[in-house]
Amino acid sequence: MEPTAFFVAGRSAHGADEVTVHHPYDCRPVGRTTVATADQVEAAVAAAAEVAATAAALPAYVRAAALDHVSRRLAERAEEVAQLITAENGKPVKWSRAEVSRASSTFRWAAEEARRFSGELQRLDTDPAATGRIALVRRVPKGPVLGITPFNFPLNLVAHKVAPAIAVGAPIIVKPAPATPLSALLLGEILAETELPEGMFSILPLPNERAAELVTDPRLPIVSFTGSGPVGAAIRRSVPDKHVTLELGGNAAVLICQDWAEDEDLTVAAHRIATFANYQAGQSCIAVQRVYVHEWLYDGFLPRLVAAVRELRTGDPTDPLTDVGPLVSEAAARRVEAWVDEAVTAGATIETGGRRDGATYPPTVLSGVPRDAKVHAEEVFGPVLVVDRVVDDDAGFAAVNDSVYGLQAGVFTRRLDVAFAAARTLQVGGVIVGDVPSYRADQMPYGGMKGSGVGREGVRSAMDDYTEPRVTVLTGV
Ligand code: NAD
Repeated sequence: MEPTAFFVAGRSAHGADEVTVHHPYDCRPVGRTTVATADQVEAAVAAAAEVAATAAALPAYVRAAALDHVSRRLAERAEEVAQLITAENGKPVKWSRAEVSRASSTFRWAAEEARRFSGELQRLDTDPAATGRIALVRRVPKGPVLGITPFNFPLNLVAHKVAPAIAVGAPIIVKPAPATPLSALLLGEILAETELPEGMFSILPLPNERAAELVTDPRLPIVSFTGSGPVGAAIRRSVPDKHVTLELGGNAAVLICQDWAEDEDLTVAAHRIATFANYQAGQSCIAVQRVYVHEWLYDGFLPRLVAAVRELRTGDPTDPLTDVGPLVSEAAARRVEAWVDEAVTAGATIETGGRRDGATYPPTVLSGVPRDAKVHAEEVFGPVLVVDRVVDDDAGFAAVNDSVYGLQAGVFTRRLDVAFAAARTLQVGGVIVGDVPSYRADQMPYGGMKGSGVGREGVRSAMDDYTEPRVTVLTGV
């Protein structure tokens, strides 16, 4: 069988070197593709630059129809796409199904936004000198977008860049993660069925050094990157004059406040935290990593959390009942193991978990972890939870903020004053009240503070990001 094609200016293509994609669970080969050649990269960039003006002028109904088509086709091919995500990424198939459904809804939402994205009319006669003038403020695409995506949501994170680009009429080139290119290429197959003009999209598997070169191409004025902090920082340094959006890592925290004291409430929180610390084996930028519990509630909460974590089924991700699959590679699982070992050496207690099997690391709960241990201070990106007690809600807020990251935080409280204090105090892009931090919807601006990034995604936020205001002042009206 031929390797899976990639896309150059909307057309399927094969490149030079072949790469094999492996299943993280048992390392079996699950597909092949090829790497784009220098000529193919040049063709993609030249086509994107060439079509930019045409793309910006595409009527809303054309953009919306293309987005609706992709949404529908993802829904029609949902099971096939979900199986592919599980095969290349190793996430349990139930989470892959959720990812496909979410990607379909991202495109549907982008179609709706494309229909209403208009700009505004501003009156200028607030100053006597401007009597009789108004301003039409339209938003126009800044130019072609380069989207670079990580392995952990191989479809959704591509959707979060492609759908808003089409919605505003900006050409886009996507560079998918090397471990998980196949889901992005399947999306390309669906995009190629639309009536979008040639050059509107390219999906190019490339090694990192060549992706770094592409970042500096002046014909791609916008770089939208999702991935790790060090790579994001290197990209930003390499193109200080470009518009760069960085969606980076996190070590998301959740706080259980003093008022969340009923037994039933603690059980609910324990289950939510257990699930969302370990979904996708913790490989989500908003997976719960740190849990701070009011000291009065700690002794009642910890056994509930441990019990909820032990209920999770770890194993073969193709089994629909599996909750926790492997990490993306054995190397990733070994790193998590080393970090847990380091914490234990420094005095931490393993409440449950802690024994690696190949690429699979079991859901693990640690208590008594020193704050400077890597599992607390850095992004673990694995199924590991650190639990600690805090003397009151303010101390809890301070603990949440004691991080180089600031993506989202969860606060279990029913008190409005505590919720607003959290929203005011926590140094994060989003506070989820009454739940874990792992919630994201396409309507929301999504992104982080501090080491978690710069700028926001979410369909509408990305549409704003990819465009700039263009003002037309009318005189004598
Ligand atoms: P990574 O930074 O290693 O790679 C991300 C992408 O960047 C890949 O496509 C990779 O090939 C590419 N890349 C690597 N070096 C490059 C370079 N020098 N120039 C250009 N491109 C380069 O990240 P990963 O391991 O694939 O993903 C995990 C990270 O992504 C975690 O830190 C996670 O928190 C983060 N993430 C953030 C969000 C968010 O929305 N904030 C969402 C998902 C994942």
